[in-house]
Amino acid sequence: IPAFSQTPPNPFRVATEATFPPFEFQQGGQLTGFDIDLMRAIGKEADLNIDFRNLPFDGIIPALQARTVEAAISGMTITAERAQAISFSRPYFRAGLAIAVREDNKTIKNFEDLKGKRIAVQIGTTGALEAAKIPGATVSQFDSAALALQELINGRVEAVVNDKPVTLYAIKQAGLRGVKVVGELLTEEFYGIALPKNSPYLQLINDALGRVIESGQYDVIFRQWFGE
Ligand code: GLN
Repeated sequence: IPAFSQTPPNPFRVATEATFPPFEFQQGGQLTGFDIDLMRAIGKEADLNIDFRNLPFDGIIPALQARTVEAAISGMTITAERAQAISFSRPYFRAGLAIAVREDNKTIKNFEDLKGKRIAVQIGTTGALEAAKIPGATVSQFDSAALALQELINGRVEAVVNDKPVTLYAIKQAGLRGVKVVGELLTEEFYGIALPKNSPYLQLINDALGRVIESGQYDVIFRQWFGE
């Protein structure tokens, strides 16, 4: 039985994979990003001493299951499959997958066009899962979205399947050259904060997230990272 009034541990360890700008990344040795600011605001509301732990993306769910961290915020899409292994907070961000190709590519516009193509993805992501379903495609997995995009620029793959806001940020804000996003959002996905299954802190995190949204703090953080 989860103990709802359990005192949270101090520090409250939160896993993240910090190569996913603008959600989580390092700048001058400091952890920064939309998720980081959001989690800090939640920590303030819930009186938690947040201690971020940088882990590989495919190591986050195992860490939650082993309870070596109390939570994770890492642009993680809420999926039915993941929800069997871990618990999710209420959704906090609407995202989805998009295809990136080199600027001169005129043939790839949607998943159909990726049949038989070489595709790069980040390991353990929804992009990797979708790419694996494409008939005849050769999928290469990388530790970060940035490495997958580099593979595209280097001409070793024809497309990258990755979260649209992350690919767009790489092009528009981080100055990634020679790459464009094609087509519409291919999937609709919602990010959630992840916790171990039946975590006693799920309610605490959800309540604090709710206050961050209702008080307008969420909008301030959103505008800071995504403009207007
Ligand atoms: N949203 C994607 C997923 O959950 C990618 C997350 C990430 O790479 N940090 O699989």
